[in-house]
Amino acid sequence: MTQNFEIAVFDGDGIGPEIMGPTVDLLRALAERRSDYSLSFINVPAGASHYAQTGESLPEASLDVARKSDAILLSAMGLPSVRYEDGTEISPQIELRKKLQLYAGVRPVRIAKGQRTPLKLQDEVDFVLVRESTEGLFYSQGAGEVTHTEARETLRITRDTSEKLFKFSFELAKQRKASGRGPGRVTCVDKANVFRAFAFFRSIFDEEAAKHPELTADHAYVDATALWMVEKPQTFDVMVTENMFGDILSDLGAGLMGGLGLAPSADIGDDHAVFQPCHGSAPDIAGQGIANPFAMVLSAAMMLEWLGINHNIQSMIDDGNALRLAVEAVIEDGSKTTRDLGGKSDTRGACAAVLEQLSCASLSEQKPVPA
Ligand code: NAD
Repeated sequence: MTQNFEIAVFDGDGIGPEIMGPTVDLLRALAERRSDYSLSFINVPAGASHYAQTGESLPEASLDVARKSDAILLSAMGLPSVRYEDGTEISPQIELRKKLQLYAGVRPVRIAKGQRTPLKLQDEVDFVLVRESTEGLFYSQGAGEVTHTEARETLRITRDTSEKLFKFSFELAKQRKASGRGPGRVTCVDKANVFRAFAFFRSIFDEEAAKHPELTADHAYVDATALWMVEKPQTFDVMVTENMFGDILSDLGAGLMGGLGLAPSADIGDDHAVFQPCHGSAPDIAGQGIANPFAMVLSAAMMLEWLGINHNIQSMIDDGNALRLAVEAVIEDGSKTTRDLGGKSDTRGACAAVLEQLSCASLSEQKPVPA
C-alpha cells in the first residue's frame, strides 16, 4: 500500500523560491522510485513580499494548510527593506514555531570528509544541537519593556516544555546510537552556576536522564561549550539548550561547517514539524540563481527521515540518508558546488549533481542479474 504525505511548501523571500524549486524536484525523484510512499506538495504564501503586497505576513489560510499537512518545508523568509511599523522584521518562521508549538529546534553539525571548515580536523564531526524554540529569552519577543532609562526582557523556562524537550533529546540520542551515528550521549548546556532558572532547567534534565541508564548524560556551561565546539567538536553527540543559547551556538555550528549554506534545521513539536535551512533570504544574491541549495536539500533529507521514523517506513529513512550522503559526495568532489563552496555551479547545477549521485547510488545498489 502506498502512503501519501502532504507537504506544505513555503517558498518565502529572496533566494527562497530559487532553492526550494530544485529541492522539491529531488524529493519527487526519490519518491517516484518507491511504491510504499508518495509525496504531494501544496504551495502556501507567507513572508515579507507577501506582506508588502497584501498587508498579511502569515495568512490564516496558509497556517491552516500547514496545520493539516504531514510536514512543512520552508525556505527563508524576511527582507530587511520590509518591516512592521515598530521597526521589526516580518518573520513568520518564528510565528510558526510558537503557533505550532515547535519546541525542539534540531540543528545538526556535520563536517564530512572534504568539507571546508575553519578547523584543523583529523576526525569527522557529527553532532546535533537541540535548541528549545518556544520560550527561554525569546519568550518576551515583541513585548519587552523599554523606558528612557531601562529595558527589560523576561526569560521563561517551563517544566512542561523542558520535560518534552529533554525526552525528545534522549530519544534522538537513542536513535543515533542505534544507527551507529553517535555514542549515546546527551549534554545539557546551561548557565546553572549563575541563574536559578538554569538550575531549574538542569534539574529537569537530570530527572529525564535518570530514565535512560543506557545513555550518558552530562552538563556543560554555555561559555565552555562555545570553546569546546571549536577545540574538540568531535566529542559531542546530542547537546540540548535554551532558546537564545541555541540561537548563538547554532550559528557557531554553521561556521564550523563552512558557512550557512550547509546548515539545515528542523523545528519539531508533538504534532507538527518545519524543515528549513538556517540561513536567511540572502537578498544580496537573490535573483541570480547562484544560491547554495544544500542547506535546503539537507533539511528536506531530515524531513524524509522524520516522516520515515514517525510512520515506520524504512524506505523514507533510507531516502533521507541517501539524500544527505549524495550532498556530501558532491561536496567532497568539489567540482559541482556553488561558488560559496569554491565551485562554479549555479543552484540548479548543484542539485543536478546531487541527482546524479543518487542515480549512481541506486544503480550500484541493484542486485546483479543472474547469468
Ligand atoms: P542571510 O543568511 O540571508 O545572509 C547572510 C550572508 O550569507 C549573505 O552574504 C548571503 O549572501 C549569504 N548566504 C546565505 N544563504 C546563502 C546560500 N544559501 N547560498 C549562498 N550564500 C548564502 O542573513 P541576513 O543577510 O542577515 O538576512 C537577510 C534576511 O533574511 C533578513 O530579512 C533576515 O531577517 C532574514 N532571515 C531569515 C531567516 C529564516 O527565514 N529562518 C534566518 C535568518 C535571517
